[in-house]
Amino acid sequence: MTHVEYNYMVEEKGGISNMLTFEAYEYQRPELQSEKKKFEQLLATFANAETVAAQTHALERINAFRNRISTMFNLVYIRASIDTNDAFYQSEKDYWDETLPSFQEMDTQFYKELLASPFRKELEEIWGRQLFAIAELELKAFSPEVMPLLQKENKLTSEYAELVASAQIAFQGKTYTLAQLGPFAQDKDRNVRKQAMEARFGFFAGHGEKFDEIYDKLVHVRHDIATTLGYKNFVELGYIRMQRVDYDADMVAAFRKQVRDHVVPIVTKFYQKQAERIGVDELKFYDEAFEYENGNAVPKGSPEWIIENGKKMYEELSSETNEFFHFMLDRHLMDLEAKKGKEAGGYCAFIEDYQSPFIFANFNGTSGDVDVLTHEAGHAFQVYSSRSIGIPEYIGPTSESAEIHSMSMEFFTWPWMELFFQDETEKYKYSHLLG
Ligand SMILES: [Zn+2]
Repeated sequence: MTHVEYNYMVEEKGGISNMLTFEAYEYQRPELQSEKKKFEQLLATFANAETVAAQTHALERINAFRNRISTMFNLVYIRASIDTNDAFYQSEKDYWDETLPSFQEMDTQFYKELLASPFRKELEEIWGRQLFAIAELELKAFSPEVMPLLQKENKLTSEYAELVASAQIAFQGKTYTLAQLGPFAQDKDRNVRKQAMEARFGFFAGHGEKFDEIYDKLVHVRHDIATTLGYKNFVELGYIRMQRVDYDADMVAAFRKQVRDHVVPIVTKFYQKQAERIGVDELKFYDEAFEYENGNAVPKGSPEWIIENGKKMYEELSSETNEFFHFMLDRHLMDLEAKKGKEAGGYCAFIEDYQSPFIFANFNGTSGDVDVLTHEAGHAFQVYSSRSIGIPEYIGPTSESAEIHSMSMEFFTWPWMELFFQDETEKYKYSHLLG
């Protein structure tokens, strides 16, 4: 393999990033027209390559280009999700919502040339067949005709995330985001739980029309994208987008039936046990998160304390996780606490040119905080371990396979749960296992 230029770029960036923290990772908006020209040249070099070595080299240059673009995209999306009130990154996000389909078009042009390569057999030997399977799927998910619809879809998705992030819910004399309201759903007082749930859903009801409108528009735009691409509806396209190369909707329907027939009865039994345990006649929706009469297991300290213990945990788990977790801490690659204006949920991203995973979460004082430190860190450890793989498509596996790593990490770290839950460790483990 001739990795010369690719490795050179990575080492160069890696060298710089050794001294940088996330705040200093540099964002520069790629201008579409000039990027297009650069890309066309790279693509022509790839298409006209006369030897395997020349084409491999051209492919590495194309991937360096794509990594740079993706780095800029990720910086914007991460920073915009941390603070939806940051005017600069919100307007950059609008720019990306508009231009992303154009970069997707470049990707598909590359995939077309890749699949048409006279050296396909040799390239498959170098990079594996999965790259080609992904390329084939990506071509099925795109045509220039759907670009305006993709822009619309991006915009609606952003609008939804911003609306959820805007939640400022008055409760017991204070205001909370949805994540910050979480602990009240586990309160020992049944009335508090009920009121907290009513406050939570009151926010959605209060914005019901807006949520309905976004949802309705998204359904229509996705249906239009699918039918324009020649599919019956969005389901088929959804599977293609999720890069499901080896199973389909019929198989998932069979799995759903198995869940209903075999899993639901077991879960129902456990809910009955829970109702007995917490002393209610009938388990209501506002009781679901409350698992023990004397309270759920919660981490016994502040977010800083949780991270300190996480550090100890990963130091002891293995030399690899130790190196990884210090990398994350040293470069400020985790934004964990719930705060005003922050988007909901949690995720792990990868910032290519800095070879940096990033963990986003909404710590709120529940056991979920520790799950972030094991689950999302499991994803992050996986992409960190794959960072030198050389093909952007292989940094993360497809969605379902990705969960193997995160969920395994949740269980690899069981022996350290006492650090976080102390005398409530058994309660935590029981809940975790049940979950
Ligand atoms: Zn996950």
